[in-house]
Amino acid sequence: MYSRLSRVSRPLKTTLAILTVASGSLLTYNHFYLNQSSLLYSDTKPLKTSLNSEEDLQKIANGSYKPPSRSELLSNLEKTKKFDVLIIGGGATGTGCAVDASTRGLNVALMEMNDFASATSSKSTKMAHGGVRYLEKAVFQLSKAQLDLVIEALNERKHMLQTAPHLCKILPIMIPVYNYWEVPYFYAGCKMYDFFAGSQNLKSAYLLSKTSAGQIAPMLDVPKLKAALVYHDGSFNDARMNVSLAVTAIENGATVLNYMEVEKLIKDPKTGKIQGATVRDRETDKKYDVMAKVVVNSTGPFSDNILQMDRNKSGYPDIFDKANIDTSKLPSIDHDNLSRIAVDNPKMVVPSAGVHIILPSYYCPKDMGILDVKTADGRVMFFLPWQDKVLAGTTDIPMKKVPENPVATEADIEDILSELQHYCKFPVKREDVLSAWAGIRPLVRDPRKLSPNSKGDDSTQGLVRSHFIFTSENNLVTIAGGKWTTYRRMAEETIDEAIKVGQLPNKPSVTKDLILSGGENWTPNTAALLSQKYHIPSSLSKYLSENYGTRAPIICELLKKDKKNELPVTLAGKEHNEILGNVDFQALRYPYTVAEVKYCIDNEYSRTALDFLLRRTRFGFLDAKEAMNAVEGTVSIMGDELNWDSEKRSLEIKKSKEYIKTLGV
Ligand SMILES: Cc1cc2nc3c(=O)[nH]c(=O)nc-3n(C[C@H](O)[C@H](O)[C@H](O)COP(=O)(O)OP(=O)(O)OC[C@H]3O[C@@H](n4cnc5c(N)ncnc54)[C@H](O)[C@@H]3O)c2cc1C
Repeated sequence: MYSRLSRVSRPLKTTLAILTVASGSLLTYNHFYLNQSSLLYSDTKPLKTSLNSEEDLQKIANGSYKPPSRSELLSNLEKTKKFDVLIIGGGATGTGCAVDASTRGLNVALMEMNDFASATSSKSTKMAHGGVRYLEKAVFQLSKAQLDLVIEALNERKHMLQTAPHLCKILPIMIPVYNYWEVPYFYAGCKMYDFFAGSQNLKSAYLLSKTSAGQIAPMLDVPKLKAALVYHDGSFNDARMNVSLAVTAIENGATVLNYMEVEKLIKDPKTGKIQGATVRDRETDKKYDVMAKVVVNSTGPFSDNILQMDRNKSGYPDIFDKANIDTSKLPSIDHDNLSRIAVDNPKMVVPSAGVHIILPSYYCPKDMGILDVKTADGRVMFFLPWQDKVLAGTTDIPMKKVPENPVATEADIEDILSELQHYCKFPVKREDVLSAWAGIRPLVRDPRKLSPNSKGDDSTQGLVRSHFIFTSENNLVTIAGGKWTTYRRMAEETIDEAIKVGQLPNKPSVTKDLILSGGENWTPNTAALLSQKYHIPSSLSKYLSENYGTRAPIICELLKKDKKNELPVTLAGKEHNEILGNVDFQALRYPYTVAEVKYCIDNEYSRTALDFLLRRTRFGFLDAKEAMNAVEGTVSIMGDELNWDSEKRSLEIKKSKEYIKTLGV
C-alpha cells in the first residue's frame, strides 16, 4: 500500500478516492466485515490431526512414539515398485505437496537434495500475510486478479495460524505516520486490508495517538510523529513449519527424505514421458531409481534445472547433455555439483536476492512490528520482533544467476541499517548485527509465453503475478512462484493437476482442516503444563511449546531421563561433569540442549550440525557468533548418536564453521 507513497507526496484527492473505493466495497462485503472478530482458539469446527488416532497422540505424550528412521524410509524406496507421486524439492512447496497428496491416500515420495527448508523457505520475512503493498497495487491498477490474490493469501494466512498454532501467531504491525494528511490514507488502507480478509480477519486495525505510539515504540522519533496505524498479520517460524510439514507427510505414510538429490529424470525410451528419477543418496552415494506415475518439480529457484532434465532427451541437465558426456562414466564425475550448478541463463525463474539481518530486541517493541513505508527506493521494510530478537529486511536485488548459497553483502547490510536509522532515535550500529543472510525470491515467468529465442534476460516477459502450475509435454508437473503463505493452496492445486496427469484416484484435498505435526491439542497453556509436569523454568517450557508444540514432552522426557541431556549444546562434549545437575536454564542465553539435538535426530531427520543449528533451532540465524561456539558440542552429540568417525566429525566442524562465518558477523 505504501511504497508508492514514498515517491510522490500523494494529493488529498487520492486519499478520498481510496476512501470511496473502500466504502463502496464495504457495502458489498458487509456480511464478511461483521463477522471479522473470530478468535483462533474458539473456532467451532474441529480440525483433523496429522496423526490418525488418539492412541498415536497418547504414544507421543508418553514418549513411546517412534517415527520411521532414515534407513526405513530408504528401504521404502527400494521396496516400492512405483509411487503415485514423486516430488522433487523439500521446501515449503514440495513438503506442502507431500502433505496434500499423502493425506488424500496417495503413495508419495519426496526427495530433497539438501535439508528441508535449506533454500528459500528458511530465509523469508516469516510473515503469513496477504501483503499490504499488493493491495495498493490492486487498488491503483483496478486489478481484480491482483485483489483476488490478496484475498486468497489472507484466507491462507488464517489457515496457517489455525493448523500450526504453536508456530504461527498474530503480530500487530505499526505504521508510524509523519504527515497529518497520511492518517486517513493509511487508515483506509488498513481497514480495507481487514475488510478483504472478511471472516478470516485476525483483529481489527486501529489508530494510535502520537503519545500512545511513543509509549509502545520509544525508539521512534516521537516529536515528529503525527499518529500511527496498527494492523495485524501472522508471524511464523518458517524452517520449523517446513520440517513440521515434512514430518506430517511422513506420519501420513509418505517417504520423505533429505540429502537425496535428483540427478536425472527417467523417461520412457519410446514416448519420452517421465517415469521417475534417478536419485543419489548424498550420504552414501548410493543411487536409487524411483519410479512414479507423476513427477512434480517443486524446486523453487532451481526449477529451470529440472526443466532442462525434462527437455533433454538424456534426462540430464544441460551441463551434461550439451557436453555429450558418456553417462555410463557419471559415477566418476563430481556429483556434488551435478544438479546444483547455477543456471547461467535462467528462463523461467527471475531471481532476486532478499537480505535480512537480526538485531537485539531493543530495536523494536517486544510484541509489535514496525513497517517502514518510506525506504529510499520505494520499497517497504519490516522490523519485526521474532524469537526474542528483531528481524529486519528486506532488500530486493535482481540477480543473473541462482547461487546455491546466496550471502548477504556488506552493502546489503548497510542498506537495511541506514533505513533503520531513518526512524530510530538512537544510533544504529553495525556491531549490533547478530546475523545476516540472503534468500532467493523465485519470481517466475510462464516459459510458454517466452519467445523461442529468448535468452531469459527480458525479465518482465511472461512474468506471472503469483504461482503457476505447468505440465510439460513429457508430463512433468512444475509448480513455482507464490509465497510461503499460500503454500497450502499451491499444493492443493498441484496435486489436483498431478491426479489428472497420472490418472490417480481423485479424492479431494483435506489440508484445509488438517492440524500439522506438533499442533495437535496445542493451546497457549501448553507451556504452563510442561513447567508443572517437568519442573522446568518457564523460559524453557515456553521455547519448547512454541517450537515443538505437543511434541515437546518427548524432549522433556529426555531431559528427565539423563542429567547430561540438560547440558546446553555449547557445553556438550566438553566433559563438564562437575556442572551436571547445576545447570540453571534461566541463566542461559539460549535454551538449546543436548536433549533437543537428540530429539531432532530421531524425530526430525536432522543429519548435519547445520540442520540443527540453522533449521531445527534458528540459533545461527539469531546469533551467529554464539552459534559458532555451539558447533563442536552439536557435532559431538550428533557424532555419538549417528556413529560418525573422527574424520567425519572434523569435516562437519569445518563445514559448519565455514557456513556460519558467511552470516554477516
Ligand atoms: C527474502 C524473502 C522474503 C520472503 N518473505 C516471505 C514472507 O514473509 N511471507 C511469505 O509468504 N513468503 C515470503 N517469501 C517467499 C517464500 O519464502 C517462498 O515463496 C517459498 O519459501 C518458496 O518455497 P519453495 O519450496 O518453492 O522453494 P525452496 O524453499 O527454495 O525449495 C526448493 C527446494 O528444492 C531443492 N532442490 C533443488 N534441486 C533439487 C534436486 N535436483 N533434487 C532434490 N532437491 C532439489 C532445494 O534444495 C530446495 O530445498 C520470501 C522470499 C524471500 C526470498
